[in-house]
Amino acid sequence: MTDPRRLIPRTDTVLADPRFSQALLRLGHDRVKAVVNEAQRLAREGTIAPGEVAEAALASLPADGPRRVLNATGVILHTNLGRARLSRAAVEAVATAAGNTDIELDLATGRRGRRGRAAMAALAAAVPAAQAVHVVNNNAAALVLAATALAAGREIIISRGELVEIGDGFRLPELLTSTGARLREVGTTNRTTADDYAAAIGPDTGFVLKVHPSNYRIEGFTRTPGVGELAALCARQDVPLVADAGSGLLRPEPLLPDEPDAATWLARGADLVTASGDKLLGGPQCGLLLGRADLVERLRRHPLARALRVDKLTLAALEATLGTTGTPTSAALHADPAGLRLRAETLADRLTRAGVAAQAVASAATVGGGGAPGVTLPSAAVAVDVTLAEPLRLAEPPVLARVERGRCLLDLRAVAAEDDEDLYNAVVTACK
Ligand SMILES: *Cc1c(COP(=O)(O)O)cnc(C)c1O
Repeated sequence: MTDPRRLIPRTDTVLADPRFSQALLRLGHDRVKAVVNEAQRLAREGTIAPGEVAEAALASLPADGPRRVLNATGVILHTNLGRARLSRAAVEAVATAAGNTDIELDLATGRRGRRGRAAMAALAAAVPAAQAVHVVNNNAAALVLAATALAAGREIIISRGELVEIGDGFRLPELLTSTGARLREVGTTNRTTADDYAAAIGPDTGFVLKVHPSNYRIEGFTRTPGVGELAALCARQDVPLVADAGSGLLRPEPLLPDEPDAATWLARGADLVTASGDKLLGGPQCGLLLGRADLVERLRRHPLARALRVDKLTLAALEATLGTTGTPTSAALHADPAGLRLRAETLADRLTRAGVAAQAVASAATVGGGGAPGVTLPSAAVAVDVTLAEPLRLAEPPVLARVERGRCLLDLRAVAAEDDEDLYNAVVTACK
């Protein structure tokens, strides 16, 4: 009888298995080889069968490093899943920028150029109402920079209805006061008037801050002055109006009529608008600052700006995002419900034929923490057994579903159509 140990696959053979290709890229040859060698050792000592070496090695690969997951939650911008997916153009731009680039060099003259000027030019072109633009690490950084440069040791006037917690315990009021600025809260949770602001403005005012409640809604007996009214008031008193739009729309989005956009707010007189790059704009994580040239310049020249500056990958991705018409985020937002329904039916059919109980159902998707609280978008989902939620999360690629009324819903609005095949395979594997 042959010694079963002679059946243990060779290291090279195991590593050539395509299931290891991702890990080889992510962890490098030596780390993956060490894991395979350990599995071979277990096979030699008889703990596992020789035929289990590849599986055992795959199972014990370190799980660190971000993994690609399929977002079937129906929440288009899911902060826990990395918010916006980058467009192909942005991904390619990131790959190019990963090497040496002309990020701070003018190739025509050979002299130093403004860092990321192509991205800044693209942003300025996208919002002509902005006299100047700047980009920092995220919207929180944009607010910190504004507070530090314009209001440290002074007051920021803000409505009590706009004291936002962004998520994971981060609260805008604490972020702002961490800069040494003081908050002057005006009005009440549900109602704040222009007079409330007017009464608070004085020699100590650094700026008035308007914050768009992007992740909650106050309904009922409510009132708050719009940006136009506030801007007129601020102009009369000669204090800047800084407006945090949050969700990152640069222009009005007809599907989301209640979401603010930078162009409209600037046109209505806001002096400085801040927004996130990885929400509805559909780009990389970054914070956009758009508005009056003198204010943007003060922020840009502040020493803190250097600590908040974005890296070359972000600038490349932002520029490419601004240059593409369709980001995955806008594709998800504008997906036609009939098309989603067709995809859900096709998937459910194939799954049923593969022996998985699945059904196409109507669903309601949302934009997510990135904006438009309370808005639902008609969507379609594949409903599978509720017990599949966990195996799906552990599938390859992991699938994040939504558990609703005793069912596990795979909502297709935030899933790219080209990922339907991966979704199908993940469900089939999760059922094994
Ligand atoms: C999301 C959001 C923020 C935080 O933005 P980040 O880019 O995550 O730092 C701040 N303000 C508002 C209104 C937001 O919606």
